[in-house]
Amino acid sequence: MFNYKFKLIIAISLFFSQLISANASVKININIEQPEHHLALVELKFERVNKNHINFHLPTWRTGRYQTLNLANGIREFSAKDSYGNVLSWEKTDKSTWQVQDTENKKIILSYQVYANQLAKRTRHIDDSHAFLDSSSVVMYSNVSRGLAHEVQLIVPNEWRSFSGLETGANEHQFIASTYDQLVDSPIETGINEHHQFSVDSRQYELVIWGEGNFDSAKMVKDLQILVKQSKHIWQGYPFKRYVFMVHATSGARGATEHVNSTIIQRSRFKFSTRKDYLSFIAVAAHEFVHTWNVKQYRPQGLVPYDYQQENYSSLLWLVEGSTSYLQYQLLLRGNLMTTDEFFTTLAKRITAHRHKPGTTSQSVAQASFDAWISEGGDYGNNHSVNIYAEGFLASWLLDFDILTKTALSKSYRNVHNLLYQQHRLPKSYQEEDVLNILEQITGEDYQAWWQENIEGTTGIDFRLLLAQAGLEMSYGKNINDESSTKSKVWTGLKTKPNTHGLSVSSVEKNSPAWHAGMTTDDIIIAIDGLRLANKEIENRLKDFKPKQSITITYFRRDKLRTATVQLAEIPKNKLKIIPMAKANEKQKAFFKVWTGVDFPQKK
Ligand SMILES: [Zn+2]
Repeated sequence: MFNYKFKLIIAISLFFSQLISANASVKININIEQPEHHLALVELKFERVNKNHINFHLPTWRTGRYQTLNLANGIREFSAKDSYGNVLSWEKTDKSTWQVQDTENKKIILSYQVYANQLAKRTRHIDDSHAFLDSSSVVMYSNVSRGLAHEVQLIVPNEWRSFSGLETGANEHQFIASTYDQLVDSPIETGINEHHQFSVDSRQYELVIWGEGNFDSAKMVKDLQILVKQSKHIWQGYPFKRYVFMVHATSGARGATEHVNSTIIQRSRFKFSTRKDYLSFIAVAAHEFVHTWNVKQYRPQGLVPYDYQQENYSSLLWLVEGSTSYLQYQLLLRGNLMTTDEFFTTLAKRITAHRHKPGTTSQSVAQASFDAWISEGGDYGNNHSVNIYAEGFLASWLLDFDILTKTALSKSYRNVHNLLYQQHRLPKSYQEEDVLNILEQITGEDYQAWWQENIEGTTGIDFRLLLAQAGLEMSYGKNINDESSTKSKVWTGLKTKPNTHGLSVSSVEKNSPAWHAGMTTDDIIIAIDGLRLANKEIENRLKDFKPKQSITITYFRRDKLRTATVQLAEIPKNKLKIIPMAKANEKQKAFFKVWTGVDFPQKK
């Protein structure tokens, strides 16, 4: 009898909690009445909770950027009250937590001011022409409210229009998210914008551009239409019905961030018109679009669910970022948005960068992934770390060629990503073991040793061997097959930038001549062989010297005059080129075709 009663009580309370949760939502007003001062007033209304105090948090990072950010620093004038207007006491218990007292069975209303002037971080930016709001930097959550629907009402100047990957509500400035997680992964762009729409494979797409610049939006729409069609070469199915490309054409901001069914791409306003600039724009769009599957649909275990209060560790971020960089070219090549020559230029640049990246002997891509949260660029970073994007790209390339070879071209790295999508979609996640299992599943071979060598190890890459599989070779000459006549120039390993007093050293490549001579960053070079570097430029001056010659560099180190003797080395004078082999055989041509989706380039 007791047991029966107990069960009944549980059933009734479950019924009521479901009743509440079916309709329960967090109502958010974001009032942007003083955009010129980058300010917004935020009001949040929460449902009743049976707790005597509630911790409300703002995230300490935002999705897509694996770094902690001081988001809570932009919050002022916080207050809490109940639905009758009674003020509730509160205190901050850590940098991003506001603890509100006496909340038992009350509807809580929070209000606070947000300062939004972080354009380049793609978190929050408000000015007199627009607002970009990534809600992780604007809207607070509690552990109870995180799973509830969120309804956002923007109060913005009359002439503004609002856009987001979220569904709109009762008016064009109202958006509905099914959970807090969806809200923070669906930024809102509101303001005076250019807006385009198109439809491909019954999916709706939008292009929203804020700012003026030298872009040709008709061309962007045309090419984005081609781009989004190419995903079928990697994944079966779309994880969205609507997708929004948001573009900021501005100054002082560059980069892009992926979101669940949208992306925000920032570029200098005049970096759209030349072929090189345009190619870089469309490549970024491809990168972010690949993320719609890779990381927004399947994610390494350490990132599921997101912990918004601390670092989310994973040794697989190289697969999240580097593989996305690798797969972006699959979309670009297959859609003819990039020529094979342009692809070869990219590969050559990546190989050259790898060869001048001493950090590849100090850190594996797995270690770099885990430490992404504390990674820093600069001289030490270049000499002793790897980048999950650049080296993750190369690891993905190696893996792709290994799979193509082992399966006699019947499977590729694209199949790995489709299987991750089919088998490990959210709310599931994947671990290294799952990737290894998929690799074994499609090749029939064990990948433990390969993984240890290439992902957890720091083994060098034989690019000559790699390229030859696809009928390609490297050349430093002006003409095809000019490798033997490689011309060289002297090399110090120094990178410098002009400074009031001379040339300030910005980096010294590890094991280069300048490194062995003891030179370091922030040394200020003033003379070579006793003569002042009048033009604050070193390259032209070095043309007068030959490899193996020694030069004396005079420089200041913390205001003290010093000299160093540097024995010059040599590097190829011309940029590395990748070219099709003149005598590529049918096997190599077939390999190229399966790899890129396009025909082996004809001899010119
Ligand atoms: Zn990315």
